[in-house]
Amino acid sequence: MNDVKSVRWIIVHCSASREDRDYTVEQMLRDHKARGFRTIGYHFYIRRNGEVTQHRHLLEVGAHCRPYNRCSIGICYEGGLSSDGKPKDTRTKEQREQLQEILVKLHRLFPAALIRGHTEMPGAVPKACPCFNASAEYHWIQSIV
Ligand SMILES: [Zn+2]
Repeated sequence: MNDVKSVRWIIVHCSASREDRDYTVEQMLRDHKARGFRTIGYHFYIRRNGEVTQHRHLLEVGAHCRPYNRCSIGICYEGGLSSDGKPKDTRTKEQREQLQEILVKLHRLFPAALIRGHTEMPGAVPKACPCFNASAEYHWIQSIV
């Protein structure tokens, strides 16, 4: 991605891990490397305790949502499954706070980029990810000038 205009989407994901289990940065790194990625495919990862890590530079092409990797930034929160393995919005208070903060910052940097959940992206492999309606919940951010 060459410039601010090349980022057209900000895509929210869940890690599809159970709400009562840890899915650490190390586990994610191992899993993404096993899929052939150089490093973690998301730009940001938010643990259940609100700890945020960044894994790609903002204009670096990620590996999180084909065929949109060349025009999007990916953010993933830890969770997305209930303790019995069903899709569920498991975001903690800390995760909601951090996610909102990142989205507001990214909106300021990339004002034309649209906030979407993974499952809302046309042509993306349909999944429940991120297990809540990201465009509805964060629509207000896009009207911040
Ligand atoms: Zn996803």
